[in-house]
Amino acid sequence: MADSIFTRIINRELPSEIIYEDEHCIAIKDIAPKAPVHLLIIPRKPIAKLCDASGDDLALLGHLLLAAGAVARQVGVEDAFRVIVNNGAGAGQTVFHLHLHLLAGKQFSESQLGF
Ligand code: 5GP
Repeated sequence: MADSIFTRIINRELPSEIIYEDEHCIAIKDIAPKAPVHLLIIPRKPIAKLCDASGDDLALLGHLLLAAGAVARQVGVEDAFRVIVNNGAGAGQTVFHLHLHLLAGKQFSESQLGF
């Protein structure tokens, strides 16, 4: 299978604004931000979508959430941010390489889950 856009970004074959990286994941600015802060936390492992993760990925999935918290602190939005995962085209997933959206800097209504 061809490398995803995100694998190509991780491999520096495509440009991006990298905010954070460690041995398991990278965080970049979304190219089409839906909020003043819109970052993507992407595992280096190319899991297509959340449902494709397995028990082998237990630690990795936890790591991604911890990374989201660390990145939120790094950019100063730790008091108010939202994390979203789109799983499948029907849920709006367009890049089939698992990623967490980290959104902040706008008013989120309590009942509004979209962005
Ligand atoms: P999805 O719709 O799959 O949940 O989210 C994919 C996200 O990746 C979208 O918010 C889209 O704007 C972003 N995106 C797509 N291509 C690129 C790219 O080449 N660079 C960056 N930085 N973001 C991208």
